[in-house]
Amino acid sequence: MPGLYTRESRSVSKMAHLRFFPQAVVGGSGAYLTGDDGRRLLDFAASWGAASLGHSHPAIREAVDRALCDQAGASYLSTANEPTVLLAEKLLSLVPERARGRVWFGHSGSDANETVARMVVAATGRPRILAFSGAYHGGTVGSMAVSGHPAQQGSRAAGLTLVPYPDSHAAGSPEAARDAALAHLERLLATEVPPQEVAAFFIEPIQSDGGMLVPPDGYFKAVEALCRRHGILLVCDEVKVGLGRTGRFNAFEHSGIEPDIVVFGKGLGGGLPISAVAGPEAIMNHAVAFSLQTVHGNPVCAAAALAVLQTIEQDRLVANAERSGQVLRDALGRLAARHALVGDVRGRGLALGVELVADRSSRRPAARQTALTVYRAFELGLVLYYVGVSSNVLEFTPPLTLTEAEAQAGVAIVDQALADVAAGRVDETLLADFAGW
Ligand SMILES: *Cc1c(COP(=O)(O)O)cnc(C)c1O
Repeated sequence: MPGLYTRESRSVSKMAHLRFFPQAVVGGSGAYLTGDDGRRLLDFAASWGAASLGHSHPAIREAVDRALCDQAGASYLSTANEPTVLLAEKLLSLVPERARGRVWFGHSGSDANETVARMVVAATGRPRILAFSGAYHGGTVGSMAVSGHPAQQGSRAAGLTLVPYPDSHAAGSPEAARDAALAHLERLLATEVPPQEVAAFFIEPIQSDGGMLVPPDGYFKAVEALCRRHGILLVCDEVKVGLGRTGRFNAFEHSGIEPDIVVFGKGLGGGLPISAVAGPEAIMNHAVAFSLQTVHGNPVCAAAALAVLQTIEQDRLVANAERSGQVLRDALGRLAARHALVGDVRGRGLALGVELVADRSSRRPAARQTALTVYRAFELGLVLYYVGVSSNVLEFTPPLTLTEAEAQAGVAIVDQALADVAAGRVDETLLADFAGW
């Protein structure tokens, strides 16, 4: 019998694949996955952050089991159910005053952002939307339409204008990045993009898929002021880096801003599909039957999400993300001294990125070495993917439960993988089937 990975290739479509190495897993516990070959793999990706509590967390298992033992239907379209109401109440207590109106539930970051994109235009009557180059807001037609990631194969909305996300490393300093990005935005609003026509500005508090870019101090405060002045809704996409991952509950808190609309996804369900949008009542109640899919608001996924939020609170996982994140970041920072490939180490809490460069002075992206590094790390027992508009940023989004010892163990593998890549010990032909993105 061929292995699981080979059998998959003979039965499952590649259309949703984003593969970096031939990984097939049969189980998992905590921060570890079990490969179909019996290997234990330390998981620094957590399925792109979705496995926020790690794998097989008892609180999620118990909540799902309870919800299924006396199942209150499978949808909130035509009936209220308790887990969904409790979850909405809880989320409203966790967002800023401006967003504390109503909550909409979906399955994914994509359907949530798509709903927001349609809703803000319909509710305000303004046809335009601002978003960032390099932004990833989803993989459906409507969410891709307001994204700016170059790897996407879809078209952008007619009313979309993309603006540069400040990149401190590329600009040479945070101040230079901030000033250039703000000047660009202000010029656009004074010329081609009349602000009274803009419904909303979609932001990522850290641009994760675009390369784990951390905004310079003061940048989002200035963006918020511009939005307020022109009545533009500030939509914060917390899908990947929210819910405690950065060491604050909401990632936008680091920037001192208050978005009007907050979008949650990925880690909210701890591995089950659920997303949520919180925003002002007037916008969120724009119309009935406006954006719905049959099993939206099902009580099983809502129960899982409640368990995730309760566990984050009870087990103080926001503080853990900050503490383990600091250990991880310090250890990664030390790699820079030993590996010329490491150009920059950045991020917040347990949302970290390591940019690999072929040459530190020109900052030329080392995309091939990045792909080889994650492949080699996988061979050595660590699951790690990469992001970035130039495909050269190792992304660290481990479970929020990560211990300091696990952080150290993972970095030891990254260290070895970088050394093997630099010494030419990793066979480049391995990458033939792994284009990544
Ligand atoms: C992953 C992601 C999305 C889309 O979420 P899906 O669950 O893939 O639909 C949206 N925004 C951000 C910032 C993301 O990282």
